[in-house]
Amino acid sequence: MEGTNENVFERLGAVPVINGMGFYTKLGGAIISPTVWRAMTAANEQAVEMGPLIAAGGRRIAELIGTEAARVTPGAAAAIALGVAACMTGGDGAAMERLPDTTGLRSKVVLQRAHRYRYLRMTWMTGASVVEVGDEEGTNPEDLLAALDPESVAAVFFPGHLDGIGGTVPLARVCDLARERDVPVFVDAAFLNYPPESMRRFTDAGADLVCFSAKYYYGPNGGGFIAGRKSLIDLVAQLDFTGFESGPWRVFGRPFKLDKYTVVGTVLALEEWFAMDHAVRWAGYARAVQVMADAVNGLPGVATEPMCFTMGETVERGSVNCLVVRVDPVRAKRSAAEVHRLLGEGNPRIVLHLEGDDLIIAVDAMAAGSEKVVAERLRAALGR
Ligand SMILES: *Cc1c(COP(=O)(O)O)cnc(C)c1O
Repeated sequence: MEGTNENVFERLGAVPVINGMGFYTKLGGAIISPTVWRAMTAANEQAVEMGPLIAAGGRRIAELIGTEAARVTPGAAAAIALGVAACMTGGDGAAMERLPDTTGLRSKVVLQRAHRYRYLRMTWMTGASVVEVGDEEGTNPEDLLAALDPESVAAVFFPGHLDGIGGTVPLARVCDLARERDVPVFVDAAFLNYPPESMRRFTDAGADLVCFSAKYYYGPNGGGFIAGRKSLIDLVAQLDFTGFESGPWRVFGRPFKLDKYTVVGTVLALEEWFAMDHAVRWAGYARAVQVMADAVNGLPGVATEPMCFTMGETVERGSVNCLVVRVDPVRAKRSAAEVHRLLGEGNPRIVLHLEGDDLIIAVDAMAAGSEKVVAERLRAALGR
C-alpha cells in the first residue's frame, strides 16, 4: 500500500480527487510525465548551485522559445512580481532592498482598463501603482501614449489572452507606442503555449518581457518562467532569491524560492512540450472522452457532446479535451447539479464543471485511466 499517491494523501488526512476540471492551481496543476518525473528525482539526489542551475535552465528555455533570455520562476504569478520589480528598480541595489517602498522610482504600471484581471494583483504587491487608461469599452491609443511618461512609468502590463478584446489597443500597437517612450511592455501569456512554436509571438510583436506558467504544459504546479530582453532578465536574477543569497543586497524577491527539481521539471517539461507529437496528445484526450460518452449515451434524458474546454474556461467546438453531458432533469429524473454532487461526494471524489444543465468533464489534467472510473460513476448516477 505504501508509495501509492492515494495513500500518501489519505495518511496525511487529505482527500485525493479525480480531476475532471483541467489545469487548476487549486487541484495541484497537471500530472507530470514519467520522463520528467525521473529527471526531477535525479535532481533531488545531488546538490547544485542554484544560481548557475537557474541560469542554465533559462538559456535552454530561451533557445526553445526563441527569446534573448529567460529565467525559471516559481510560477507565472511570481514572474509578474519579479518582472515588474526589475522594471522599477533597474539594478539599483538599495532600491531592490527598499521595495515595496518605491520612493524615487518609476513606479507606475500602465494597463488598459478593459485588461483588468485576476493576476494584476501581482504587479502592485511590489509597491507599484496601477494606472488604468481608457474604460470598459476600450482604450484610445493617444490616451495610452499620453500616459507613458518615462520618468514615472515602469512598464506597460498586458494580459496576453485579452489581446484584441473590444476597443483595446492590440499588443503590436502597444509595443510600438511604448517603444516611442522607451517604456518596457510585459505580457502575461501564462497559458498561451500552444502550438509551442507560437510562444515567441509576444516578444516577436515587440514585448520586452513575457511570462508563462508550467502548470499549463505538464510541468510542476510551482513552476513557470519569465523570458525576453537579456538586460531585463539579468535584473530579475539580481532581484530573485539567488540575488538575495549571493549578492550584497537583501532584495525583494527572496520569498519566491525554487527547488532544484522544480527548475529541472519546468525546463524539461517545456522541452517535452516542444518535442511532443501533439496529434497523439489530442487523440488520447478524444479516446478518454469517448469512454465516458459510451458509458452514458442512450440513458434517458442524457445527451453528450465531445467539445473543447479552453484555458479561458469557455466550451467551444474544436480539438476535443472534454465531454459535455447535458442532463434533462425531467427525463433523467436527476439534475446535473445532483450528479455533480454525487460525483463530488463519492469515493474517490470526482470534481467537474457544472453549468446549468451541463456537466463539463475535462480530461487534460486527469490521471491516465481515471476516465474509466468517471464513466462508471456517471453511469451509476444517471442510470436507473
Ligand atoms: C495560472 C495563471 C497565472 C499564474 O500562474 P502560476 O504559475 O500559477 O503562478 C497567471 N496568469 C494567468 C492568465 C493564469 O492562468
